[in-house]
Amino acid sequence: MRKFFSAVLLLVLTVAKLGTVSLVEAEEALEVTPSVQKLIDGHERYWNEETSESDTSKERREELADGQEPFAVVITCSDSRVSPEYLFDLGLGELFVVRVAGNILDEAELGSVEYAIAELGADTIVVLGHESCGAVTTAVAKDLDPEAVETTQNIDAFLDNIEPAVKEARQSDKEDDELVELVADLNVANAMKQLETDSNIIKDAVKDQSVSILGAKYLLEDGDLQWFNQ
Ligand SMILES: [Zn+2]
Repeated sequence: MRKFFSAVLLLVLTVAKLGTVSLVEAEEALEVTPSVQKLIDGHERYWNEETSESDTSKERREELADGQEPFAVVITCSDSRVSPEYLFDLGLGELFVVRVAGNILDEAELGSVEYAIAELGADTIVVLGHESCGAVTTAVAKDLDPEAVETTQNIDAFLDNIEPAVKEARQSDKEDDELVELVADLNVANAMKQLETDSNIIKDAVKDQSVSILGAKYLLEDGDLQWFNQ
């Protein structure tokens, strides 16, 4: 009987916890600051295949040689189909991009975000996951059967960072592709939390409302973005 109650409690806790990862359209999820509006408008142009407004001109390049003031930091996967400047239709000098397989945060990535916040004045941080992520799929496969996946020490360095999300998602009833997508979402949610727990600079900036943290998921085929409910 006790075991039954433990199982129910675990299920309730899991549902409550997983419930925090709800993905919605931008207008439902976000406090629309000027920076967020730029991201929304840029993505709208990309999605609608409108004429690009991204400035990659010679003039802009020369102007930026003296210094940069990117308005947002995007932490995303190295996946060749997920290029932030394209997805948000933005030009040179607008996004400070931190890319690593599985959009994980380790010390070097956190330090990069701190630099963009403290030195360059970015006021928005986006953790951008995506559908059908190879890094996430590999992390799940390795957790299900370590023997079946051949990795290297270096690859394990980012797989290990995804592992907490895998463990969390495996408490749900999701399998196969649904499990992979849940892990991808929890991995973004974990990174969003980690930005504050592992960096005093970011934590203080969020506290005094000079920086906001957003989470999003890019749908590979559809091209749409879903935003994590704040
Ligand atoms: Zn990926």
